[in-house]
Amino acid sequence: MPLIPSAPLPVASLLARVRACTLCAEHLPLGPRPVLQLDPAARILIAAQAPGRKVHQTGIPFNDASGDRLRAWLGITRAQFYDPRLFAIVPVGLCYPGRGVSGDLPPRPECARRWRAPLLQPLTQLQLTLVIGRYALSYHLPQERTGLTAAVQNWRQHGPDTVVLPHSSPSNNRWLGRNKWFEQEFIPSLRTRVAQALRGIY
Ligand code: SF4
Repeated sequence: MPLIPSAPLPVASLLARVRACTLCAEHLPLGPRPVLQLDPAARILIAAQAPGRKVHQTGIPFNDASGDRLRAWLGITRAQFYDPRLFAIVPVGLCYPGRGVSGDLPPRPECARRWRAPLLQPLTQLQLTLVIGRYALSYHLPQERTGLTAAVQNWRQHGPDTVVLPHSSPSNNRWLGRNKWFEQEFIPSLRTRVAQALRGIY
């Protein structure tokens, strides 16, 4: 008998299951606390990496210096950023993974395998996906094998619905200092694409 695929869960049920997840709890120094924002009406997906420690403590995505810089790059307010009808915020690792020798550890690999497809499935109104950082790049654009900087520089080649960004963390200040073109040329184009994706709803 052919397998019948199970129907997608309603978003509220899906989020309840995600928030109860303990799949990789043994690897999480502060325990599970998935941090995301999801509404099927969202126009822009922020495909991020994993919450940092401060975000874990507040449970609010990008409620830190990285978020302040990201909102400035996008040319939007906090109110717009936290409106789930505008932005879905779904990192490839939903819980804080802990700290390594040179910064936060990578997102837990179990997480994307378990949750990414069901969490992205309801997002049928997306106009734009912002792929932030190398772990999100590996998931969303696995064909990009030239590294993050080249993937950002190739922004004209990813089509109208995908933009690759470096992480907006202060730890990337040296990268920003070496790549002046990013804020001089890339950011104005990015703001235009964000405004186009949100046109008519704010
Ligand atoms: S990181 Fe993902 S897989 Fe691990 S406990 Fe959190 S939600 Fe579950």
